[in-house]
Amino acid sequence: MPELTQLLKNNRQWAAKIKEQSPDFFHELSQQQAPEYLWIGCSDSRVPANQIAGLAPGEVFVHRNIANVVVHSDLNCLSVIQYAVEVLKVKHIMVTGHYGCGGVIAALEGAEYGLIDNWLRHIKDVIRMNKNELDGIEDKAKRIDRLVELNVIEQVHNVANTTIVKNAWKAGQQLSVHGFVYSLEDGILNDLEVSIRGLK
Ligand code: ZN
Repeated sequence: MPELTQLLKNNRQWAAKIKEQSPDFFHELSQQQAPEYLWIGCSDSRVPANQIAGLAPGEVFVHRNIANVVVHSDLNCLSVIQYAVEVLKVKHIMVTGHYGCGGVIAALEGAEYGLIDNWLRHIKDVIRMNKNELDGIEDKAKRIDRLVELNVIEQVHNVANTTIVKNAWKAGQQLSVHGFVYSLEDGILNDLEVSIRGLK
């Protein structure tokens, strides 16, 4: 695959640079991973978890899907949460949305892209649940920004209401669920301050 040769070259350079700085880095990491964080974010190519949070390989467990949605019947997402909480014993789960999210915009504008429209129904539920607030925001860009935040808040609650997280809290495990929003415009990650730290 000659068109991907550059990626393989990049990889060799990256690995060599890390080994130069820390000769045992890959060997030590190959023995175990002990991340403290689970990142649930958008698949958007502009929102890479490790780089944004300044975390090295091994420091963050990651699940990404379009528009960072946590669906109670999504075995993929639930399996990630279960493994992260019960096996890796992460201390923090960060649901991270981002302003300018294409999935959120498509849901708000009712655009049709095919199969993904079904996935975006979950965002449409968030729109329906917050209709009054969203209808009251005249500026379209601000309405999209607010929906991005409301979607994160909803997904934080969805994470906190999984049997996995509830059982961890019942067992006294130290675990917090947070809601963050990333700005593509300035690269800043903002805490929405909607963290949940245990059973209410
Ligand atoms: Zn997105």
